[in-house]
Amino acid sequence: MTLIDAQYLRSTLEELAEIGYDTERGGYHRLAWSSHERQAHQWFRNQLEALDLRVWSDAAGNSFGQWDVGQGPALAIGSHLDSVPWGGNYDGGLGVVAALATVKGLRDRGLRPIRPIRVAAFTDEEGPRFGTGLLGSKAVAGFLDIDHIQSAHDAKGRTLADAMKEYGYSINDLETVSDSLDQFFGYLELHIEQGPRLENSGIDIGVVTDITGIAHLLVTFSGVANHAGTTPKNARHSALLAASQFILALEEFIAAKPDLVGNVGAIDVSPNAANVIPGEARLRIDIRSPHEETLDAAMTWIHERAQAVEPNASVSRYHYVAPAHMHSTWLPVIENAAENLGFSHTRLVSWAGHDAGILSHVMPAAMLFVPSHAGISHAPEEWTAFDDVLQGAEVLAATTQALTEASEVPRT
Ligand SMILES: [Zn+2]
Repeated sequence: MTLIDAQYLRSTLEELAEIGYDTERGGYHRLAWSSHERQAHQWFRNQLEALDLRVWSDAAGNSFGQWDVGQGPALAIGSHLDSVPWGGNYDGGLGVVAALATVKGLRDRGLRPIRPIRVAAFTDEEGPRFGTGLLGSKAVAGFLDIDHIQSAHDAKGRTLADAMKEYGYSINDLETVSDSLDQFFGYLELHIEQGPRLENSGIDIGVVTDITGIAHLLVTFSGVANHAGTTPKNARHSALLAASQFILALEEFIAAKPDLVGNVGAIDVSPNAANVIPGEARLRIDIRSPHEETLDAAMTWIHERAQAVEPNASVSRYHYVAPAHMHSTWLPVIENAAENLGFSHTRLVSWAGHDAGILSHVMPAAMLFVPSHAGISHAPEEWTAFDDVLQGAEVLAATTQALTEASEVPRT
């Protein structure tokens, strides 16, 4: 039995697509605490009210609508409504709209769950404006770094506190959000894959097993700044040459590890002049793995290798997100839902971060993916075919039904 009203799903996704679109360059601007992001939340709360749910926002600006049915804590379903600059309408938006369609579908069919269902849109999942990604789900989980939040500001110097105040929110109230944690039974999120694996393999549904951990490291190599012409060849100590040897070795190390990806994305060289041997080179590295041991081993290797190349090299970790594991007994529930609907599925790791990763540390959480055309996201070309959107929404709805043990009741 299918549950989703395809016309509702399509028209709701199209309505959301009107908020924050850049008509000149294409793509969406729904940056956290911007007028467009807040407009999307207001639009979402209107949709929740139209479905006759109990609607509210918490102190982090997360928007919720709850179907108060059955007993006990609620199964939350949803995603986020903010975007990166010039992002797409599917990253986050798809999961929110499919969650709306799920509740509508369960109710249209006269199903009566034994526990409440909460449709959720989390604040500032992406984080590019204030460097405060996953803010809404971290607030729920009680994982906020208040010192960082108090000093957070955007590129124009506007503080997060000030931006929140404009919409009636205070950073002083953020820590109260986690008081509501016991209202959650668990969390289920539909998202686009943001990579090419499903499309390339022709598989309908990705069942996420783990969400990658992420470490950002700063590696500093020291050399001796000196004249590029007069310094004898055997007396040159170039920090950039050491950094280059290290980068190539790192690439080889990563290539041999199937559960590790990595990127040297930034280099600072000083004094950064063609006629001066570099005295210092600083590399910024992003490494990711779903396995904590692999990340730890990679960080140890980076440390040792950097010092093997140049004994005074130093390594510091300035950002870390632990790997997250989806609730193992919920994976077969998603797979059964997909099979009953005739859709193919595969298990995969998410190499991008998600609200479900944060929430998985404090409640059962699971995620499913639908294909991203050409693997593109965080760009105006982000697109998922409507057939895939509908299939994902059907699996979300069937999984929600299974997790709330709905039984059929007569319609009145
Ligand atoms: Zn997203």
